[in-house]
Amino acid sequence: MGYIGFAKRKRFFMSIDFEIRAKDGRARAGVITTKRGEIKTPTVTVNFTPALLRSGLEPAQVKELGVDLVLVNTLHTYLSNVGDIHEFLGWAGPVMADSGGFQMISLADKLNVKNHGIEFIIDEKKLFFTPEKILDIQRNMSVDLMMPLDYVVSVRKKNIWLFVKSVIRTERWFKQTHTTDFDNLYYIVQGGTSSLARYLSLKNANAWLSRGISAVALGGISLGETKDEIYQTVKFCCDRLPEDKPRHLLGVGEPDDLIRCIGLGVDTFDCVVATREARHGRVWTGKGPIRLLKSDYAEDRRVIDEDCDCPTCRAGKTRAELRAGLKLGNSDTKIDLMLHNIRFMMRLMEQARQAIEDGVYSQFQNRFWRSRK
Ligand SMILES: [Zn+2]
Repeated sequence: MGYIGFAKRKRFFMSIDFEIRAKDGRARAGVITTKRGEIKTPTVTVNFTPALLRSGLEPAQVKELGVDLVLVNTLHTYLSNVGDIHEFLGWAGPVMADSGGFQMISLADKLNVKNHGIEFIIDEKKLFFTPEKILDIQRNMSVDLMMPLDYVVSVRKKNIWLFVKSVIRTERWFKQTHTTDFDNLYYIVQGGTSSLARYLSLKNANAWLSRGISAVALGGISLGETKDEIYQTVKFCCDRLPEDKPRHLLGVGEPDDLIRCIGLGVDTFDCVVATREARHGRVWTGKGPIRLLKSDYAEDRRVIDEDCDCPTCRAGKTRAELRAGLKLGNSDTKIDLMLHNIRFMMRLMEQARQAIEDGVYSQFQNRFWRSRK
């Protein structure tokens, strides 16, 4: 009877599934299935940070650009009391939440990391978040892909003991939360730039994955390392993870990083770069990024990228016109630029998937680098 109960409960919670449809070298093209829809991989999320929510860009607008998955920040969303995240965003598709770990770096002066969780000071109020509470918040918001609280440390000091500490604490916090079956929970690999610390964290991750944890995320990356160090860490981790589980890379999302890391075996990414850069007038083209605020574009009557099918380029809005709107601080212009950058990313992901399916990913990578020279 106990066994039947367990099987039923497992079915009830069965919320994500992953299928690899094609492989080329280390690169994989697949589908993550959640109860709120499919996510074609490789892909990158659009991060609905407080800044993006304030900008006026609607999640419904990004759906039309080919986006399958959006990400919200657990701590910020909790502080705004949003209730069900899908209703709040007006987004029926899958939502991923970040863990709050990254805020340890970005909000270091407002945070106190303790053995059992993090103390967060906002508006002079002290809030305490345990690993259990972070997952409760995500579950109450009906998040589809959940990230546990992880311990993120600075990589700049190259302190191996600190890296090992990030691994031990992340594991301890994960153990603390793992009291129920979460079939949509990621394990976050930490360890900075130390291969020893990464190795220990991967050992922990593999043990949890073999016990039924659905997916794995690589954390503590792109916090000031060189690009080569980032790629080395990603390769080191991907080479030591099982084939059949989805791999997410936290906080890395420049186009060249995506192309490189897909080639190393990453399936999903999240990053604020596409939208943040767009709001500051840095837009992507097939030949590399351009800064619209430069005077070179004051009379430029071309669209941002002639090969682009985003609403902004399709409507024939010129670089000169967008530059003028940006200089006036026009919020519609900022949305036009964000739509372009998001669509640029999505097209890049569609091309990467196609290249993997056709078995020509390394040629695709070479073409990508050549076009940007
Ligand atoms: Zn465009």
